[in-house]
Amino acid sequence: MQTTKISKINAQTKLCALIGNPVKHSMSPAMHNAAFDKLGLNIKYIALQVEENQLKQAIKGLKALNIIGLNITIPHKQKVMHHLDKVDLVAKKIGAVNTILNKNGKLHGFNTDLQGAIMSLEEHTVVKNKKVVILGAGGAARSIAFGLKQNKAKVIILNRTVKKAKKLAKQVGCSTMKLDQLDSIKADILINATSVGMHSNTDKSLATKEQLKNFEIVMDIVYNPLETKLIRLAKQAGCTTITGLKMLVLQAAASFEIWTGKKPDIKLMQKVALKKLGGTK
Ligand code: NAP
Repeated sequence: MQTTKISKINAQTKLCALIGNPVKHSMSPAMHNAAFDKLGLNIKYIALQVEENQLKQAIKGLKALNIIGLNITIPHKQKVMHHLDKVDLVAKKIGAVNTILNKNGKLHGFNTDLQGAIMSLEEHTVVKNKKVVILGAGGAARSIAFGLKQNKAKVIILNRTVKKAKKLAKQVGCSTMKLDQLDSIKADILINATSVGMHSNTDKSLATKEQLKNFEIVMDIVYNPLETKLIRLAKQAGCTTITGLKMLVLQAAASFEIWTGKKPDIKLMQKVALKKLGGTK
């Protein structure tokens, strides 16, 4: 692979892409292109909107066009697994792939959301033996729950739809409680893995300031807005806080490493994402 500084597209340019629907607000092209350029790699990253009934053809195209790798986002993270040659054991357990590597014409699937979440937490604490409450039982919560269990944390899942929480807890091997029991829980870490607090719904938080006083660390995986209501309340409650931007950047960095075998400039990726999200620090 070339290591000289290249930013222009030419006949040797290789390609990575994001496929999903919608993709037009994704931070990934900006983060990856900055990181490729910084290392002088002649690779570009684009976002491609792919309809659900076109997924199979899109994946065939990946092989045919010799694209280095893909990120996969909603709604394809589960179904894409049927079209791969090999799926990493952890991604198989989670039941979702967010990264594909095209290695000599064979497609390998991975899930880097898990690494993004665990690495974000491990910048502040060791998760082993920590008691962790996860709010949510959707796609992101699945990756985080499996990641925490793999790292020997004690996990409790709380979700609006109790049936989904129970199903996930059974698969992961952890416990569940109801959302309205949050008052009675004291733990090391609380993670919001729901979409509550996201852009257009920014005045909502599933936990109150009083409830957050029972946690040391509060992480919100929502990254738009950069500072959610939950994070603001957690700061007021005296907790250490981790925003969704960290996980976003670290899952991207893990995908970058799978494709290139090189470590990207994480600070640069974070700066670029922050700028796109309208942040200043
Ligand atoms: P998902 O699969 O659709 O799951 C959504 C979750 O949110 C479900 O548990 C759902 O509960 C819960 N929820 C939605 N509205 C709710 C409400 N009003 N009250 C209580 N619970 C509610 O979505 P996802 O892929 O897991 O993504 C969740 C969030 O994480 C999104 O905001 C996404 O942008 C963010 N995310 C961030 C990163 C990152 O790198 N920072 C990575 C992945 C995702 P029910 O089961 O009851 O519907």
